[in-house]
Amino acid sequence: MNAQSPEINLEAFWSLTYGLCVITSHLEGKLNGQIVNSVIQVTAEPSRIAVSISKNNFTHDYIAQSGVFAVSVLEESTPMTFIGLFGFKSGRDTDKLSQVSYKNGFTGCPLVTENTLSLFEAKVIGQVDVGTHTLFIADVVHAEVLRQGNPLTYAYYQQIKKGKTPKNASTYQQRAPIGETEKQGKNMAQYRCTICGYLYDPTRGDPDNGVPPGTPFEELPEDWVCPVCGAPKEEFIIES
Ligand code: FE
Repeated sequence: MNAQSPEINLEAFWSLTYGLCVITSHLEGKLNGQIVNSVIQVTAEPSRIAVSISKNNFTHDYIAQSGVFAVSVLEESTPMTFIGLFGFKSGRDTDKLSQVSYKNGFTGCPLVTENTLSLFEAKVIGQVDVGTHTLFIADVVHAEVLRQGNPLTYAYYQQIKKGKTPKNASTYQQRAPIGETEKQGKNMAQYRCTICGYLYDPTRGDPDNGVPPGTPFEELPEDWVCPVCGAPKEEFIIES
C-alpha cells in the first residue's frame, strides 16, 4: 500500500482530447451562443449527448430555461476572430448571432453554419449540478453534416492557433522573450492577441478605451481586454 496521499497532476488533464463547438440556445426571442470544449456523445440508442456549461455564462441560463440547445462542430480553419466572438465576449453586451451566418432550427435555436462541419439540435432530458458548471444531458432531435473537413480540437487550438507552449516545454523561452526586453530597460514592446491577432502598440495606446498613447502593455489595467475580441491580457504574447 502507498502510505502517501494521492496527488493530482494537472498536466494529466492536458492529454485528454476535446473538440471545440459553438453551443447556442434561445429564450424569449433572444439568441445567444458560446464556445465549449465539453460536448460528448453519451449513448447511441437513443442518440444522446451531454455538455458542461459554466453557471456564469449567459447561454447556461438560456438552456436551463428553454430546455433546448444546438451544437455547431467547428472546423480546423475557424478564424480566431470567430473564436474570440463566441469565446471571449458575453451575450450580456454583444449580440453575437447578428455577426455570423446561421439558420433557424426546429427547436428555435440558431444553427451557426459558418466554420461548421456538422450540426446538432437537442432537447434536455436531465441536468446535474456539478459545482461551477451544470451538465446538461439531452436527446438529439436533429443532426446534419454541412461539409467534410477536420474538426478543431482543443489541442490544435492551444498549440497551433494560439501558438502557446506549456511552460515546461523546451520552446517556452523562445516564445516568451520578455526578460530580454526588461533587461534592455524597454517596456514599450508590442503585444499580440493570440485570439484574434490584434497588435497592442504602446505608442498608440487604446484611446477608444481610455488608454492614452505611451502606455506600456505592462501598465494596462488588469481588467483591460482586447478591443477586437474581448480576450483578457493573459491571452497576449510579446511580439518579437
Ligand atoms: Fe483579440
